[in-house]
Amino acid sequence: MKKQIAILGSTGSIGTQALQVIEEHPDLYEAYVLTANNRVELLIEQARKFQPEAVVIANEKKYNQLKDALTNLPIKVYAGSKALCEVVTDQQVDMVLTAMVGYAGLQPTIAAIKAHKPIALANKETLVVAGELINELARVNRTPILPVDSEHSAVFQCLAGEGDNSIEKVILTASGGPFRTFTREQLAHVTKEQALKHPNWSMGAKITIDSASMMNKGFEVMEAKWLFGVKPEQIEVVVHPQSIIHSMVQFTDGAIKAQLGMPDMRLPIQYAFSYPERKQASFPRIDWRQCHELTFEQPDVERFRNLALAYEALHRGGNMPCIVNAANEVAVDAFLHDRIGFLAMSEVIGQAMAHMPYIAKPSYEDYVQTDAETRRLTSELIASHSF
Ligand code: NAD
Ligand code: MG
Repeated sequence: MKKQIAILGSTGSIGTQALQVIEEHPDLYEAYVLTANNRVELLIEQARKFQPEAVVIANEKKYNQLKDALTNLPIKVYAGSKALCEVVTDQQVDMVLTAMVGYAGLQPTIAAIKAHKPIALANKETLVVAGELINELARVNRTPILPVDSEHSAVFQCLAGEGDNSIEKVILTASGGPFRTFTREQLAHVTKEQALKHPNWSMGAKITIDSASMMNKGFEVMEAKWLFGVKPEQIEVVVHPQSIIHSMVQFTDGAIKAQLGMPDMRLPIQYAFSYPERKQASFPRIDWRQCHELTFEQPDVERFRNLALAYEALHRGGNMPCIVNAANEVAVDAFLHDRIGFLAMSEVIGQAMAHMPYIAKPSYEDYVQTDAETRRLTSELIASHSF
């Protein structure tokens, strides 16, 4: 029986790499659902090639174009964000890969968990915004959440075979991004073009900016807390510019296990699909003649304030991580449209954290409201040129 996979965000960086994994294993996996936000041409091309049961375009204005292009094929065509939540619950779906970007991933992930679909989780924002709620839903519905983020996949791989052995520490590696060696003065003047050039990974625009600002690593600390049940003090970030060690786990006897490999997201995607088995893969291997040194540095939270803000939000809990996520989404978008500078992104997030009302035990509705309110506040702050 082939595993039927619903890919939310099939036109993105993770989505297209997931389709490469499926293509390499036509005997094991099938794309059952493909979805996109705007890139209708690519979605049409993917639908023709992979012949899924259904496709969804979130932007309803593009529905007719999609429908017309696929009219002679036996593919169901839907539009809108509600349809995203419905397609994942289809009885035939065996696994849902959440590869869409940002807060928009929360609702369909909840729908998939409630329908008992195992989640291959790339959309880290879901756990950043509502980790406690997602964990509780996953527990009640007995739905596994398998990490796709390379660091968390590495930790997950290190934990294989460890049973109930306790984790002393999770050590997340960070490449340091394109500005690892920049001073604060230099950071004040970097452009989006510079920020979009990641040294080791090719990813979507939003996560590439998050990587340059270290917010990505802050989010990954939060993600690790919810995925592995560790306290914030047990999660350490180490800068490792070569991105060969994808992360590590230190156990109670002091032993450290690490997972290594070339920086290639197809491996963690495939591991989430095939877990607990490993399947053959043609991805490039490490060539030890080319890999001469693995180096490590401490992260600098003075230059990369976002990492400190993320730890603060994690300690404060409640709706604070949701506030950080929403403010960050607005700030990154403003940076990508040349409306604010690189360092102003942390300013915007800090202001949102200071001004938004704190809710200690948020419900789902509280998250929705916090997200909307934070977006409104941060957009106003940016429009009033306070930065
Ligand atoms: P991307 O921008 O390349 O792709 C995003 C996908 O989501 C696209 O298919 C887009 O159509 C869809 N999408 C965007 N907004 C949407 C909306 N409002 N409604 C419905 N669909 C929407 O992003 P990416 O780099 O593939 O990242 C996807 C997720 O995976 C992010 O949460 C990111 O943090 C995470 N992630 C990515 C990588 C990577 O290497 N790219 C690594 C680890 C984690
Ligand atoms: Mg990562």
